[in-house]
Amino acid sequence: MGRIEDNDVCQGCGVMIQTEDKNEPGYVPASALKNEMIICQRCFRLKHYNEIQDVPYLDSDFLKMINQISETKSLIVKLVDIFDFNGSFIKSLHRLTGNNPIILIGNKIDLLPQSTNLSRLRQWMKKEAADLGLTVQDVFLVSAKTGRGYNEVKNAIEFHRKGQDVYVVGSTNVGKSTFINYLINESVGAKDVITTSYFPGTTLGFIEIPLDQTSSLYDTPGVVNRGQLTHYLSQEDIKVVTPNKEIKPRVYQLNSQQTLYIGGLARFDFIKGERQSFTCYFANGINIHRTKLDQADQLYNHHLGGLLSPPSQTEVKNYPALVEKTIKIAEEKVDIVFPGLGWITLSGTPATIAVHTPSDVPVSKRKAII
Ligand code: GDP
Repeated sequence: MGRIEDNDVCQGCGVMIQTEDKNEPGYVPASALKNEMIICQRCFRLKHYNEIQDVPYLDSDFLKMINQISETKSLIVKLVDIFDFNGSFIKSLHRLTGNNPIILIGNKIDLLPQSTNLSRLRQWMKKEAADLGLTVQDVFLVSAKTGRGYNEVKNAIEFHRKGQDVYVVGSTNVGKSTFINYLINESVGAKDVITTSYFPGTTLGFIEIPLDQTSSLYDTPGVVNRGQLTHYLSQEDIKVVTPNKEIKPRVYQLNSQQTLYIGGLARFDFIKGERQSFTCYFANGINIHRTKLDQADQLYNHHLGGLLSPPSQTEVKNYPALVEKTIKIAEEKVDIVFPGLGWITLSGTPATIAVHTPSDVPVSKRKAII
């Protein structure tokens, strides 16, 4: 059996190879070290199965790539998860892109209720991006799973790239692999999919997928964002909070001084205002628990991990303390957005509410999209 030499890199993407951890960049099964040409598992899967696999990198590693992309002339395609816009939005991205144009793509629209106003969602994404310091050429919504919205996106990519390369960026779990695999299977024959080049002098690999004779689409590794709610949860709990089919609205008529718990992950207090309805849009499997405001703290202290879960009992110790924020709502129909979870729509009757979430998973407010 072969041994790893100090300077062994993947012949496909240039990543430093390792045999220890399947889920980390550069993984090669030890048995493959004896091969003449060593390629990492990610490149192997692309080459032989026509399949991109996402490999996570921590922020600091990802940032090392910035200069490489900003030195290119290219189009940036930035993918976000519409259920986790803030959590999946990499703020440092505009430094990464130099002056290259960016199109922003919100993925997973198949999970939205039919009645969703997609153009309002698009507007909101555009505004949020601008507030975060990113100017985008355009915003699109797709479902990488069903293919909805793809044609429009493909045309936009062709139009905006003006014959140049394309870099697809996004944080882990936004559906980047699903998105690229769809593109590959649609547009490129299996035999043409090869990973051919990398940026020399770096231990981080981009995967190249040729678009035509002179230009390529590059898959960049998914960045892990610490401010993502899922970062605090176990795989089991992530399954519960991540919607896997169209979400069903759940409506609660609340009097003031009542509280809703979203599992044990976040809390919503209706403090002041006339009795009104609150419509919750979360994964159908998340338990929403209603209680009186004055009993809410006690309930949390006694039942987190049990009645109020996820987080499940074993994960409670890893879940950060909730921080309260008070919001006054005038006569406007708004969504209170919980990154990584979903949102609650208010009816348009004036109200004072308080939300409780981990400090680095702050809620935001937008015009109702439904
Ligand atoms: P990556 O880490 O960004 O490469 O994300 P993946 O492509 O591995 O997808 C992460 C998870 O989201 C997987 O469970 C996918 O099945 C799911 N997913 C990706 N795209 C969609 C989509 O359009 N709709 C739905 N419902 N799920 C999606």
